Amino acid sequence: MKKELTCINCPNGCSLEVEYAGGKIISVKGAECKKGKEYAENEIFHPVRIVTTTVRINCAAIPLLPVRTSDPVPKKLYQAIVREAAGIKVEAPVKCGDVIVKDILGSGADLIASRSLERCEGKTF
Ligand code: SF4
Repeated sequence: MKKELTCINCPNGCSLEVEYAGGKIISVKGAECKKGKEYAENEIFHPVRIVTTTVRINCAAIPLLPVRTSDPVPKKLYQAIVREAAGIKVEAPVKCGDVIVKDILGSGADLIASRSLERCEGKTF
């Protein structure tokens, strides 16, 4: 099988033409360094992403707190984590980096706050 990818390991953004079969990379064309092959292998066989989304927050100036996973998680868990986050509501104040959910969905990554929000009494959404 063939797949075209863009390596995002550095600003070069090499366009990779990857050939693979039987769970193995056969060839990678277009990579300007050996990290390209590693990127292609991970992206095809074990793709991961940092999940960015929001959770609801009470008593803050805005109703939604931006959150993200502390580490990249398997791409197949992305939508499930977004859905899980949609059902979460926290109370202000929150500091950037606070853990909102530890080991979310057993991914090994925590869901953490991406920004701080002070408490504003009376703000309930
Ligand atoms: S293959 Fe190497 S040079 Fe090209 S984008 Fe990836 S890391 Fe950068």
